[in-house]
Amino acid sequence: MRLSVFIKTKRLVPKGFRGITFSPFIFLLPKVYKNEVVRNHERIHVRQQYELLWIGFYAWYLFDYLRNRYKYKMTKRMAYRNIIFEREAYRNQRNQNYLKERSLFGFIPYKLTKNEIKDRRRA
Ligand SMILES: [Zn+2]
Repeated sequence: MRLSVFIKTKRLVPKGFRGITFSPFIFLLPKVYKNEVVRNHERIHVRQQYELLWIGFYAWYLFDYLRNRYKYKMTKRMAYRNIIFEREAYRNQRNQNYLKERSLFGFIPYKLTKNEIKDRRRA
């Protein structure tokens, strides 16, 4: 079942990003429109958004970002890369079979580990 609609655009994509997803729509910059790794990354977000009925995804996404940034004192880039949904997407974007094998709520195992948090606190 295909649940993603790809749209090539220069608008809507925030500065510094290659694409943005509002399921089922995936907006990609023209330069990455045919990039299968980027497409797979965004398809993973589509799945996450459906699982959390959009609002849960955005709320959790923002919560993770702010916690990483202000509680764990990460840089903007690091705070973004350590959002649970980004961790899952970046880790698996090169595996084109990932979404076929992935279980429901497959992002859960990608939350920051206790050791990663401890390391942040010490830093
Ligand atoms: Zn992403």
